[in-house]
Amino acid sequence: MTQHIQADLHTHSTASDGVLSPEELLQLATDKQLDYFAITDHDTIAGYLSVREKAVAIGINLIAGLELSTLWSGIGIHIVGLNFDPTHSAMIKLLQYQTDARIARTETILKKLAKISFGISLSELQSSVGDGVIGRPHIAKLMVEKGYVKDTNQAFKKYLGAGKLGDVKNGWISLSDGVKAIRESGGAAVIAHPNHYNLTRTKLLRLVDDFIGAGGQGIEVISGKQHRDITDKLSAIATDKGLYASIGSDFHRPLSFGVGVGELPPLPDNVTPIWELFATH
Ligand code: AMP
Ligand code: MN
Ligand code: MN
Ligand code: MN
Repeated sequence: MTQHIQADLHTHSTASDGVLSPEELLQLATDKQLDYFAITDHDTIAGYLSVREKAVAIGINLIAGLELSTLWSGIGIHIVGLNFDPTHSAMIKLLQYQTDARIARTETILKKLAKISFGISLSELQSSVGDGVIGRPHIAKLMVEKGYVKDTNQAFKKYLGAGKLGDVKNGWISLSDGVKAIRESGGAAVIAHPNHYNLTRTKLLRLVDDFIGAGGQGIEVISGKQHRDITDKLSAIATDKGLYASIGSDFHRPLSFGVGVGELPPLPDNVTPIWELFATH
């Protein structure tokens, strides 16, 4: 009997909006004896870099990763980059671009919130976040602490989620330029959680075609806890379009009802796993 390859190629650490440190994530992945593991923080590789050597020492296959915020047809689309050279100039340039965009975006969001009398300053936000990059979840947390909303869910639902006042995405790199930068730095680009964008089938296929046109090679066929029907639909798209299949928990925090690091069903047999691209040397 063949042993299934176990992988989790989408997780978040304290370097972005996850609650566990990169070390803690690495420990969970090691406990699970994952064959491939990636820390894919939003627009930063600081978490990955901080445990790279430790992963080598432990002997776990930690793949370079990030989750890039991009813009496609006015929609915010997340692209997971895997197995790139973190020192490549195209990657350095991409990360700098996104860091600048994220700071400018945060300032815009805070200005918009100030207009509705929600007083949050960049410095208090930064000190609440610490070393990690600022994201909407951190803004939501401060909104709760200040009593503007009752919980983070409400913060997203009313103010920060898709189409709301604080949903600012126009500064992100274009999907096409983001994919190109990942490819140029030797990596593979993967469409993250394709089922989370509320796209019609026609629009999803248009996204896939544009993504492939830019050099994208993969799609997350399994993202966290999802219905088997969705896995089947995404597998069919992967095979029809010749895309490699990826798998990830999108882990942010331990939750009793959530998916833990590496706690995922195997990829369906009919798809080609993305790690076939990793085993080149
Ligand atoms: P950002 O990187 O600043 O665009 O923030 C995006 C992150 O916010 C996502 O990766 C999720 O972790 C989180 N998020 C998005 N939508 C929601 C929501 N409705 N409720 C809670 N967290 C959310
Ligand atoms: Mn997140
Ligand atoms: Mn995402
Ligand atoms: Mn994610």
